[in-house]
Amino acid sequence: MKLIKLFATLALTLAVCLSLEAKPKIRIIATGGTIAGVSSTSASSAYTAGQVGIQTLLDAVPQILNLAEVDGEQLVNIGSQDMNDEVWLKLAKRVNQLLNEEGYDGVVITHGTDTMEETAYFLNLTVKSDKPVVLAGSMRPSNAISADGPANLYNAVAAAVSPACKGMGVLCCMNNQLLDAKTVIKTHTIDCDTFEGGPSGIIGYVYNGEAYILQTPNNKHTVNSIFDVSKITKFPKVGIVYGYANASPLPMQAFVDANFDGIVLAGVGDGNFYKDVFEVAVKAQNQGIQIVRSSRCPTGPTCLNSEVDDEKYHFVASLSHNPQKARILLMLALTKTHDWQEIQQFFKEY
Ligand code: ASP
Repeated sequence: MKLIKLFATLALTLAVCLSLEAKPKIRIIATGGTIAGVSSTSASSAYTAGQVGIQTLLDAVPQILNLAEVDGEQLVNIGSQDMNDEVWLKLAKRVNQLLNEEGYDGVVITHGTDTMEETAYFLNLTVKSDKPVVLAGSMRPSNAISADGPANLYNAVAAAVSPACKGMGVLCCMNNQLLDAKTVIKTHTIDCDTFEGGPSGIIGYVYNGEAYILQTPNNKHTVNSIFDVSKITKFPKVGIVYGYANASPLPMQAFVDANFDGIVLAGVGDGNFYKDVFEVAVKAQNQGIQIVRSSRCPTGPTCLNSEVDDEKYHFVASLSHNPQKARILLMLALTKTHDWQEIQQFFKEY
């Protein structure tokens, strides 16, 4: 009888160990944002982002332990309006370490929604692994009525453990949808249904703890990206100038005077300049400051050699990159080359 009991206990222990081992290992890196935000009253729209820590976020969704062996770390605790190069470098290096040296099967990053698309695209170009990396945030603070953070976090972990999300590049998981780092844009200032994938739409969705992929991104990313930040401590300086009727050339001139390495134009229409701004842009390009033409239009490409003769001026057309994504690609491109044609090629491939 004792022997049977012993065998039963051993079998049970083994089964528990095996079931624990079978679960993927996921690290959650918390960076702040509204998902970690707190409002003074749950019915108020006034709140401060980046207030509660990673453990509070995990405690709100104990169900994720059914999906994966999850642990967390707090990288920073900021509103993503304060995201910067220093944090991006830390983040990219940490994700690479977790996936390539510490045996994690995927990484989920909690992040504010304001600049989530920028961080996602930066990581898409600098993470050296095909394992899932998924960003999640929320539009309502953690103590709001009907907070959206817990479901977004649960879904992000579901995506991170899914073999379907391997090799897809960095994804954002918001409002049950999976969005690709290159095309994702925040489109609404306050609604939960704010993220869209532009004309190409969403990449997939998460339903009942399962990720479903609808399409595969066709741009180069992660393991196929040549951009490597492992030895980088500082990035080239790249700014964005906004286009509008009767535009002042002063912001463009200010970037030139401050020795910026590149300037992205959020131009009107197909990346067009106001004439006074164009003059400064030509001078800047001749001085070795790379100009990239993009557009303030929410959809459509900025085409090469359309109303502006890019070949003549050595400007780069951002093609399908919006100004904020173009800024990131130009910043990384300038770590490799100052040849405008090579940079244009990067805009075609990434
Ligand atoms: N300002 C906040 C942030 O980006 C907004 C949010 O997370 O939704 O951190």
